[in-house]
Amino acid sequence: MSASAPERLSVAELGRALAERQWSSVELTKHLLARITAQHELGCFLHVDEATALEAAAAADARRAAGDTTTLLGVPVAHKDIFVTRDAPTTAGSKMLAGYRSPFDATVVARLREAGMVSLGKLNCDEFAMGSANENSAYAPVRNPWDRSRVPGGSSGGSAAAVAARLVPAATGTDTGGSIRQPASFSGVTGIKPTYGVCSRYGMIAFASSLDQAGVLARTAEDCALLLGTMSGFDARDATSAERPPQDYMAKLHQAQVEGSAARPLNGLRIGLPREFFPATLDRDVHDAVRGALAEMEKLGARLVDVSLPRTELSIPVYYIIAPAEASSNLSRYDGVRYGHRAAQYDDLLDMYRKTRAEGFGAEVKRRVMIGTYVLSHGYYDAYYLQAQKLRRMIADDFQATFRDCDLLAGPVAPSVAWRLGEQGDDPVKAYLADIFTLPASLAGLPGMSVPAGRGEGGLPVGLQLIGNYFDEARLLRAAHVLQQATDWHLAVPAGV
Ligand code: GLN
Repeated sequence: MSASAPERLSVAELGRALAERQWSSVELTKHLLARITAQHELGCFLHVDEATALEAAAAADARRAAGDTTTLLGVPVAHKDIFVTRDAPTTAGSKMLAGYRSPFDATVVARLREAGMVSLGKLNCDEFAMGSANENSAYAPVRNPWDRSRVPGGSSGGSAAAVAARLVPAATGTDTGGSIRQPASFSGVTGIKPTYGVCSRYGMIAFASSLDQAGVLARTAEDCALLLGTMSGFDARDATSAERPPQDYMAKLHQAQVEGSAARPLNGLRIGLPREFFPATLDRDVHDAVRGALAEMEKLGARLVDVSLPRTELSIPVYYIIAPAEASSNLSRYDGVRYGHRAAQYDDLLDMYRKTRAEGFGAEVKRRVMIGTYVLSHGYYDAYYLQAQKLRRMIADDFQATFRDCDLLAGPVAPSVAWRLGEQGDDPVKAYLADIFTLPASLAGLPGMSVPAGRGEGGLPVGLQLIGNYFDEARLLRAAHVLQQATDWHLAVPAGV
């Protein structure tokens, strides 16, 4: 393979290089598989099946030889291990599902496969996507490629770290309360969580069904647009799937370039800055990086306006009631009867349930099942769950009020850069509090992105969060794309990868 470092290329560039026969998909796949082996200690992958990947690459090469010009044909990808796949085990980062194999592919996986993308394997994540650091994976923590003593963020930590370490050009992820945006921010990659309902949840292992959404982690907004356009769209097998015509986000990116004036392509775009997203307690380095990115957007023509999301702080207790409530219900299916682990020895049925769940679940999952069961139980339902639901509606209404004065919202993704492995100790609340800026959009079901915005303390990446109104992914992606055309934060590569 030539020395032009294909791992440095974006999905769009790889698509073109493959079309020009610079390499075959088999060559490219072999190259990335070797990198995955070499970077094994990062802990990004839970499963790599070289033979299956090379078979898919050969099939893509054959399609190309037969005249197929699909953009994503032969480009490698990898999936968060929360999407079920026919050709690889799916664990959701849990011992409960060790060795589990699904008889079908998740819709998101199937659509990318049909477009000719070559899956290299399954990516590490927090157990059942519960966490912010990937430290809740039952298998191994993931290390941040920018500083291996730090976490990559979570729960899509393997996805973010693999893209940052140039092991794969793009990966799928899921975001329930920030799990695409926060690891993208911590690992210096670009991530998008679309509006709830844009991507099918079919075959995505459920955590909190009213919040769970699939999305993309890649290196550019353009790549996010490419993948999202392919994997999204109505799916009759998900009852909450939005019935909309397929969206060509790529066409909209390029159409937009023609529209704006060349020097000020963001002319007319009003970006709202919720004052609650810039509290005095925000780490200085994060504040400065986010402000720096916003200043660039201003230079490109955007206008910054002050807005308010007064219930921002409340989104923490609201989310940490609703998400565990839904989790406790969703995870009741892991009882040793149908899926995954079953205790080897037990006395009766109840004992089998108890032992299976005690052995199969990790501490954080157990904590959430208990909290969720509590807030749903008779006598507490009204005091906690119902109140949380009412506040959730008010949080969503607050967003609608801000969108009268602006087109997009912006702020930090997280209050700090990536923390050290083990730093949070045994205090789960510390991590919960750090979700403050991602939870509001999740509760409202709005689309959000994390876009690299430079570096903070220790040279660690900082992400700019952009939030759009419902189904406004095209505007979000375009704003991020224009910023990336004018700056190079997203092109920075961690040392030693
Ligand atoms: N950090 C949040 C949690 O622990 C969000 C996780 C997610 O989005 N899957 O629940």
